[in-house]
Amino acid sequence: EEAKDDGASYEIGLQDVEHGVVTRFPPEPSGYLHIGHAKAALLNDFFAHKKYKGTLILRFDDTNPLKEKQEFQDSIIEDLALMGIKPDTTTHTSDYFQELYDYCVQMIKEGNAYADNTLQEVMRKERMDGLPSKCRDNSVEENLAHFDEMKAGTPEGTKWFIRAKISVDNPNKAMRDPVIYRCSPQPHHRTGDKWKIYPTYDFCCPIVDALEGVTHALRTTEYKDRDAQYQWMLKVLKLRNIYNWDFSRMNFIRTLLSKRKLTKFVETGVVWGWDDPRMPTVRGIRRRGMTIPALQEFILKQGPSKNIVNLDWSSFWATNKKFIDPIAARYTAIEDDHKVPVTVVGARAAPYTEERAKHAKYTDLGTKKVVFSGNIIIEQADARSFVQDEEITLMNWGNAIVRKVSHSLNPLSLKTVTGVELELHLQGDFKKTKKKITWLSSEQELVPVELVDFDYLITKDKLEEDDNWEHFINPKTEVRTKATADCNVASLRVDDVIQFDRKGYFRVDRAFAHGQPAVLFLIPTGKAAR
Ligand code: ATP
Ligand code: MG
Ligand code: MG
Repeated sequence: EEAKDDGASYEIGLQDVEHGVVTRFPPEPSGYLHIGHAKAALLNDFFAHKKYKGTLILRFDDTNPLKEKQEFQDSIIEDLALMGIKPDTTTHTSDYFQELYDYCVQMIKEGNAYADNTLQEVMRKERMDGLPSKCRDNSVEENLAHFDEMKAGTPEGTKWFIRAKISVDNPNKAMRDPVIYRCSPQPHHRTGDKWKIYPTYDFCCPIVDALEGVTHALRTTEYKDRDAQYQWMLKVLKLRNIYNWDFSRMNFIRTLLSKRKLTKFVETGVVWGWDDPRMPTVRGIRRRGMTIPALQEFILKQGPSKNIVNLDWSSFWATNKKFIDPIAARYTAIEDDHKVPVTVVGARAAPYTEERAKHAKYTDLGTKKVVFSGNIIIEQADARSFVQDEEITLMNWGNAIVRKVSHSLNPLSLKTVTGVELELHLQGDFKKTKKKITWLSSEQELVPVELVDFDYLITKDKLEEDDNWEHFINPKTEVRTKATADCNVASLRVDDVIQFDRKGYFRVDRAFAHGQPAVLFLIPTGKAAR
C-alpha cells in the first residue's frame, strides 16, 4: 500500500494547464545523473505524465563542448529508464544552433544585443557596480562585424562576447546585460567544428523552450532571479508564452551535488567510479541498495516544497527500508575474526537439514536450508558475553544452556573465548531469554563473504561557500569485514537484497563464485548515523 502514493494528489498549482502541458528535463551531458537531477527529472515526468496527460522532452543541454561526452549522454538515457522515466522525445540544444544564431543576429539588428570585448574581470566588476560597458553603444554594423569574427573563430573573435542589452543597473543583477554568446573554437561532440560560437544557457533556454512548445519550464529556485531575463528574451524575440515554475534544489548533508566536484572524485581515485556506492549518483545510491520505488516516493514527497533544506540521508534510507524489508530473505553470517567453535550437547548424532521460511512474515519468499549438528560456530562477542549456566536462544533452533566456556589469553591479555559447550534445552521458552544468538553448523558448505560498510565522502555536514571542499574529504570511507555465511548464500546473485540476522540489510555486489568470497554492501536504514 505504502508504495502506491505516486503523488497524483499533490497540489502544485501549475497555471493554465487546460491547453496541454509540455515539460522538459535539460541535463548537460557532462557527468552521470545525481540525486538532485533525479528530482528534476522525476518532477518533470510527474507533471507531464502523471498529473496531466502531457509531453516530456529530454533535452541534452550541450552547449559547452569542453565538458560534454557521449558516454555521459548514454548514461543519462539509461538512468532515466531505470527510474521509469520515458521521455516522449529526445532533443539537443545543439540541434538549434542555427536558429539560435539567427535569433542572436535578429537581436543585434533590433538593438537588443551588442558585442563586447571587456576583460572578464572588468565586466564582472562593471556588472556589480551597475556601470555600462564601453561597447554598449556601438553601432549595429560594428556589432555584426564582431559577431562574424567570433563565428569564424579567429584569435580576435575569441576576445569577444555578445551581451543582451537589457539594463546596466537593474536591482536584479541577472538583468544587467547578461552574456548570450561566447566564442570557443573547440570541436563539439555532435556538431564537430561547424560552430566556433556557443550560446549561453540564459539565451538558449527560453528560445529552445519556445521552439519545442514547452508550456511550463521547471527550474530550481536559484534561477528565480533569472526568470525576468527569460521572460525578457521571449518578449523581445516575440516568442510564445511559457510559465516558469520553481522548485527547491535538493541538498544532503556531507554530500556534494555538483558534477564538476563528482568528476574530481572519479578522476582523482577517491572513489572507484561514477557508480561507486559512496557516490550520490543514481547509480551509486542504487549500488548502495536504494530501490527505485523508494527513490520515487522520497522525491515526490518533497516535490512541491520550495524550502531549500539540507536533507539528512536517514529519512531517505528509512523510506527505502519499507520497500526492502518485505523482499529481503533472512540468512546468517558469522564474523571470521576469532569465531568460536561450539559443541552442542543433545544434538542428534548425525547432521540434518530442515527447510525454513526465508522470512517469517513474508512466506512467499520461499524456504532455505538450515543445517543442524553437534558442531556449530558463533561470534566471539556473543561467546564472550556468556555466563556459566545461562540460558540463551539459538535462533531458528531453540534454547540451550551454557555449560562451559574456555579462554585463552592473547598477547594483549584480552580474554579470548576459544571454545564453548552448550546443552540443548529445547523445551525452554525463547521469549524468556535475553540473548538470541546467530550460529552456523560447521557441517555444511559454508560460504565466505565480505561485508562492506561505507561512510560519507565529506566530513562536514554543510560546506559553506568559502570552504575548500577538498580539505573535507573523508580519508576512510570503507570498512570491510570477513565473515562466513550459510550454504544458501552460495546461490545469491548480484543485486539481490537480503538481511543477515542481527547484522542488517545487504545488497549483493559480487556473487560467490570460483571460491571467491561474495561481496555484500550494508544498506543503511536511517537508524544509525548513516
Ligand atoms: P551540476 O552542478 O550537478 O552540474 P547542473 O544544474 O549544472 O548541476 P544540469 O545537467 O544542467 O546540471 O541539470 C539538469 C537539471 O537538473 C536542471 O534542471 C537542474 O536545475 C536540475 N538540478 C541539478 N541539480 C539539482 C539539485 N541538487 N536539486 C534539484 N535539481 C537539480
Ligand atoms: Mg546546468
Ligand atoms: Mg553544473
